[in-house]
Amino acid sequence: MKELYADVIVDISHEKLDKPFQYRVPERLRGKLETGMCVTVPFGNGNKPLQGYVIGLGEECKFDPARTKDILELTEKSVDVENRMIALAAWIRKNYGSTMIQALKTVLPAKQTVKQLEHRTLERIMNREEIISLLGESRRKKQVAKERLLQELVAQESIPYEWVTGKLGVSSQTVKSLERAGAVRVVSHESFRNPVKLTEKSEQRKELSAAQRAVADAVIADLDAGQPGVYLLHGITGSGKTEVYLELIENVVKRGRQAVVLIPEIALTYQTLLRFYRRFGDRVSVMNSTLSPGEKYDQCKRARQGEIDVIIGPRSALFTPFPDIGIIVMDEEHEGSYKSESSPKYHARETALEVARLHGAAVVLGSATPSLEAYYRARQGEYRLFTLKERLTGGQLPAVHTVDLRKELKEGNRSIFSRRLQELLADRLSKGEQSILFLNRRGYAGFVSCRACGHVMKCPHCDVSLSEHRGAGLKCHYCGYSEPKPTLCPECGSKYISGFRAGTQQIEEKLGELFPGVRCLRMDGDTTKTKESYQQILSAFANQEADVLIGTQMIVKGHDFPKVTLVGVLAADLSLSAGDYRAGERTFQLLTQAVGRAGRGVLPGEAVIQTYQPDHYAVVHAAAQDYESFYEEEILYRELMGYPPAAHMLAVQVFARTEEGGKKMAERLAEAVKSSFDCQLMGPAPASIEKINDIFRFVFYVKCSEYDKLIQIKDLAEGKIQEWQRPETVQFDFDPMNVM
Ligand code: ADP
Ligand code: ZN
Ligand code: ZN
Repeated sequence: MKELYADVIVDISHEKLDKPFQYRVPERLRGKLETGMCVTVPFGNGNKPLQGYVIGLGEECKFDPARTKDILELTEKSVDVENRMIALAAWIRKNYGSTMIQALKTVLPAKQTVKQLEHRTLERIMNREEIISLLGESRRKKQVAKERLLQELVAQESIPYEWVTGKLGVSSQTVKSLERAGAVRVVSHESFRNPVKLTEKSEQRKELSAAQRAVADAVIADLDAGQPGVYLLHGITGSGKTEVYLELIENVVKRGRQAVVLIPEIALTYQTLLRFYRRFGDRVSVMNSTLSPGEKYDQCKRARQGEIDVIIGPRSALFTPFPDIGIIVMDEEHEGSYKSESSPKYHARETALEVARLHGAAVVLGSATPSLEAYYRARQGEYRLFTLKERLTGGQLPAVHTVDLRKELKEGNRSIFSRRLQELLADRLSKGEQSILFLNRRGYAGFVSCRACGHVMKCPHCDVSLSEHRGAGLKCHYCGYSEPKPTLCPECGSKYISGFRAGTQQIEEKLGELFPGVRCLRMDGDTTKTKESYQQILSAFANQEADVLIGTQMIVKGHDFPKVTLVGVLAADLSLSAGDYRAGERTFQLLTQAVGRAGRGVLPGEAVIQTYQPDHYAVVHAAAQDYESFYEEEILYRELMGYPPAAHMLAVQVFARTEEGGKKMAERLAEAVKSSFDCQLMGPAPASIEKINDIFRFVFYVKCSEYDKLIQIKDLAEGKIQEWQRPETVQFDFDPMNVM
C-alpha cells in the first residue's frame, strides 16, 4: 500500500502559507482525514505537539521519507472559522482551478501590522440649529456643494473626510470656508474604527409593502425552519429591495447571527451606506478598495471577535471571518465585477452559495436585470423568485424612442446624431435641463457591419460577431475562424460596410460643432485615471456645471442625477456586437440602466436609442423595459448554441514566451482533452489580445452540459502540464464573462 502524506499548516496566516509541513498519515487515520481538518502534529526538534490544519493530501513525499514524522491525532474540535476557510479554499481550488495556496490567500486576510494610519473626519462644532440656518443661507445663494455638505451635517456630527471630497463632491476650499466660519473642524484619528458617527441613529422605519413583506416573511420562515434557500429578488431601482435587505438582516442579527452584504464597488454609494449605518450603527462595517491591507485585517479581526454583525463590500467581503453567517445579500447580482479577473477566477454568486452552505445561511440575490444564470436557476426551481413591480419613489419610466440609423443614412443624415436626438438635445439646452450621451462600447468592439442594412459579420460556427484585425481580416475570438474583410455587404451589396469607430472625444467635438458653446463633460478611461477624477466629474455634473455628460458605461451605474431628462444611446450596436455570447445580455442591461437614468426626479424623461438593428430583441425589450420577454429569447439562443447557463464553458488560457511554444502547448492540451472527453471544443486560437508584455496568449474553449466534467478536464490539463514540464503557464476560467 502506498503511503499517504498530508500538508499541514501550524500557523494559519497568510505569511506562512507557502511553507506547509509534510507529515505521514498513519494507517488508523486513513480515510478519516480531509482537507480543512484540525490535527495534532509533533513540531520542531523537541517534537512539541502543536495543532495544525490539513491543506492538502497526496501520495508523494517531498522530503526524506525516513525523516518525515507521523500525524499524532485528529483533533476533536467543533467546526471553527479556520476549518470553514480552508474548506472554502479547497472548494475554490476544485471549482475554479488554482493552487491551494492561491486559494487560501484569496480567502484569508493578509496580516499586516496596521501602520497607524491617519484618518480624517469632518466634525461639526456648531449646533444643529446653527447648521440649519447656514443651510438656508447657502440655499439662497445657490451654493449647491456647500448645501449638500450642510445637509449631511444636519443628520450627523461627523463625516469621514474622504467622503466629503469624494462621494459628496465638496471641494477643500468649501470645507475651509466652513472652518473659517466656525461651523466645522477637521480632526485626525489614528486608528481605523467605524468611519461614521451619527447623531440620530434611528431612522424613519418604513412599513413594508405587501410585496416586500411576502419576501421577508418567506426568507425568515425558511431560516427559522432550518432550511435556508436562495432567493432572487427581481425589481427595478427604487422598488424597495434595499428596504427588504435591511429587514432581513435585522431579523438575522436578532437571532445572534451575522450578515454579509455584497455591493459592486461602483454602486457602493454614501447614501446606501448611510441607510445601513442608520439601522445598525456601530455594528456595521465597510470593506472596500480604499482600505489598506492593514485596515482590512483590522475589519476581519473585529468580525472574528464579534464586534460587528454586518459587513458591506464588494466580492471579497464574502471572506469576512464571521463565526455564524445567517444571510448573504448580493445586490446588483448581474454585475460583471462579481467575477474575479485574476486566478482563482471565482464568481461571487456561486462562492456565496458555498459560504452559505458551510454556515447554513440564506442567500438573497437582487437585481433589476437579473443575470441569465440567476433567472435560469430560478426558472429551474433552484432559487425562489420574487418580483417587486412598483417604484416606491415616484417618477415615471421615461418614454423611449428607438431610431433606425439605416434610415437616417438613407435619408441623407450622416452625423452620429440622429435628427430626433438633435431635436431633443436642442430642446433640453433651451430649457436648461441636462442630458447624458452614452457610448456603450465595451471590450474589443472591432466588429464590422453594414450601415445601409445593419448586417453584422458573424462567425458561422459560434454565432458571435467577428472582429477586425489589422492586416488579418475578420476573426472569431472563440474558435479562431477567419475570413477576409468584405468590400461590399454580402447581404445588400452596399459599400457602406466597415468597422465602427466612434470615441467619446469625437462625440464631444461633433457636439460642439452642432451646438456651439455647449458645456460638456466627458467621462471615459482617459478622463478617469484616478478615483478622484471620476468623483470630480460626477459631482461637477451633479452641480450642473455642464449641460451634457458624455461617457462610456461607467456613467450609467449607481448615480442619480435628478436634473437629467434626456438620455441618448449613440449606438446600441457597440455592445450588441461585442464578439462574445453575452453581448445580448450586456446590451439589454446597459440599455435598461441607461434608459432608467432619465427622469429620476420630478421632471419626466425621454430616451433615444440609436441603432442599426432596431429589431434586435435586446433593443426591442430594453426599450419596453420588459425583462421576461428578453429572457425568453436570450435563453433560446443559449440553449441552441450550448452557451451558459444552458451549458457550461471552460476557457483554457496558455501564456508563453514564444509564439511557437504557446501555440504548440495549446494544441497539445486541446488534443489531450479531445482524446479523453466527449465534448465540444472551440479553438485553440490566439487570444483577442495576442500579446501582452511580450507574453503570447492562446486560448481554447470547451463546452459541456455538466460542470463536473469540466472540472475533470481541468484536472487532466493540470496533470499534463506537470507531466510535460514545459515553461508555458496555463490558467482556467469557468463560465468566462469576457472573451480572452
Ligand atoms: P431599491 O433598493 O430597489 O432601489 P430602496 O429600498 O432603495 O429600493 O427603496 C427606494 C425608496 O423607497 C427609498 O427611498 C426607500 O426609503 C423607499 N421605500 C422602500 N420601501 C418603502 C416602504 N415600504 N414604504 C415607503 N417607502 C419605502
Ligand atoms: Zn448591407
Ligand atoms: Zn467561431
